[in-house]
Amino acid sequence: MQPVEQLKRRVREYLSQYAKITKVDLEGPFVVVYAEDPREILDIPDAITNAAKTLKKKIIVLASKPLKDENATIEFIRKLVPQKAEIIDIKFVQETNEVYIIAKRTGYVVGKGGSNILEILKETGWRPIIIRAPTIKSAFLETFYNILISGSVERKRILKRLSSRIYRPPVGADRGLFITFLGAAREVGRSAILVHTDESTVLLDSGISVGGRNPFPRFDLPIFRLEELDAVVVTHAHLDHSGALPLLFKYGYRGPVYLTKPTRDLIMLLLYDYLNLSQKMGITPFFSWRDVVNLMNHMITLDYGETVDISPDIKLTLYNAGHILGSSLAHLNIESSKHNILYTGDFRYRDTKLLDKAMRRFPRVETLIMECTYCGERDVLPSLREAEEALFSIIRETAERGGKVLIPALAVGRAQEIMLSLVDGFRRDVLPDIPVYLDGMIYDSTAIHSAYPDYLSSYVRNRVFKEDRDPFTDPHFNFIGGPDERPDVTTGGPAVIIAPSGMLTGGPSVEYLRLMAPNEDNSIVLVSYQAEGTLGRRIRDGAREIRVPNEEGEIVTVEVRAKVHVVEGFSAHADKVQLLTYLNTVEPRPHRVFLVHGEESKIRSFIPLAHKSIGGMRFSAPHIGETFKLA
Ligand SMILES: [Zn+2]
Ligand SMILES: [Zn+2]
Repeated sequence: MQPVEQLKRRVREYLSQYAKITKVDLEGPFVVVYAEDPREILDIPDAITNAAKTLKKKIIVLASKPLKDENATIEFIRKLVPQKAEIIDIKFVQETNEVYIIAKRTGYVVGKGGSNILEILKETGWRPIIIRAPTIKSAFLETFYNILISGSVERKRILKRLSSRIYRPPVGADRGLFITFLGAAREVGRSAILVHTDESTVLLDSGISVGGRNPFPRFDLPIFRLEELDAVVVTHAHLDHSGALPLLFKYGYRGPVYLTKPTRDLIMLLLYDYLNLSQKMGITPFFSWRDVVNLMNHMITLDYGETVDISPDIKLTLYNAGHILGSSLAHLNIESSKHNILYTGDFRYRDTKLLDKAMRRFPRVETLIMECTYCGERDVLPSLREAEEALFSIIRETAERGGKVLIPALAVGRAQEIMLSLVDGFRRDVLPDIPVYLDGMIYDSTAIHSAYPDYLSSYVRNRVFKEDRDPFTDPHFNFIGGPDERPDVTTGGPAVIIAPSGMLTGGPSVEYLRLMAPNEDNSIVLVSYQAEGTLGRRIRDGAREIRVPNEEGEIVTVEVRAKVHVVEGFSAHADKVQLLTYLNTVEPRPHRVFLVHGEESKIRSFIPLAHKSIGGMRFSAPHIGETFKLA
């Protein structure tokens, strides 16, 4: 019997003790069990958890056919979900038994730990899928929801096809376990690591180098064979980890892409924005919208801590990485070599208002692949508290003299970190009662953040679920609808303006800078890393005259009379101290550590330091294209 059939039979036999099972299906790595009455399983505490433990599979229980009709289901959902969720629409997809619930505050629809989702599934027999409704018009979210809903039948078909590849009979080769670094080795950008085992090949991240000389990972090396690739795992949405995904689909990859739900949504937002921007600037992008839709239909979302088979000999688990919303550490358990790899992606090892720090305990780890962005000698960041106090006092002083504060920030992550700090400042009365304007992609990105409270810090979850307050909808926040509103904002009274991009390389922050820089009462606060060659870096280094485009796109010279401040400590990466602490506290202790995603000189200074403070670990700084045998 084929492994697929064997697996289906084992699951059916096991769960038949509880309920009448009508069908067992495989959807990608998931086992979907259809029961005549799913309550008979779901009402027994731990029945599913125990089944998953015994069978070592993720099991989803659904009703063979809906228990309630569409109208009764709508009524049930409206009664269960609190009014403040503001449900906008409920849509049904008959072919897949799915009910899409579109609401303004999705955290309330989901309920704590997903309690409402389970209730809807149990009582109606429809599989609920929750979607965040935009509170202001958002072309991205409308497009995204439509393709998500209209693609659900196609996605189910794809998932079934993928499962026969995941559960194929093993060939029993004896090649050993190797990893090859296709990017982000002795550099920051284009993250991509190839893992080859006796049975399979997996790619960890597929990023681009934004503005770099070599934008793509080394997919041209003979060791990389697209047709042999079993799966791609994406740690988080930043383009240096996800930007080359559409390229894989353009060249014919049709396998799974594993990630968390928020990472999926944020990647779609960033790629959509990239295509839009290219069009506006008259540049031909290296991928098309078709590649993006193809990519989306092959995405398989996982929760933190959920272990799934991604090939005949690899199990994957994602854990919180504390870097941005949905960011993950990827843990691979390679059964054929009895070896475990932990890849950090980008991570942070301290709590912030937005996110809890990265996970540090795992069942087993032999090899650790760790990012090293801030592992240089001088990379020691001030505490979050110090950073907040510095930012707050700049805002207070600026407001007192009647000026405005511009904070250029990355739309995904940094902007929301700052927003939560400001909410806390308003609450503690250490900030003046002034409006905060948010511009550009920050709106869509924040909408996605507020849809996933379960992926955010315990601090945010407490606000949402205990105090019943969504910090992202604080009354101080005002979203700017478009460029026409910008001059009004900059000519009004004291205010804080948060706008992307963080390094003033483009986006609304550059326009605000042009409007605000000439006024000496204003302040510009740089909270992000400012790369060499960017406008942000020139301002940081004291430039008093800058050349920026005006409304007509003509380059004009603007005098910088506003005060320029640098506030460090809001970084989304672990600094040198956190990296050393992580190496010292990660359990179990890895034997071998590969340092990636860092400048060569920084990594070189870090290795002797790490050797001195941590014994018994072997450190390597791989080169691009280099292959290592792990087992
Ligand atoms: Zn990142
Ligand atoms: Zn990165």
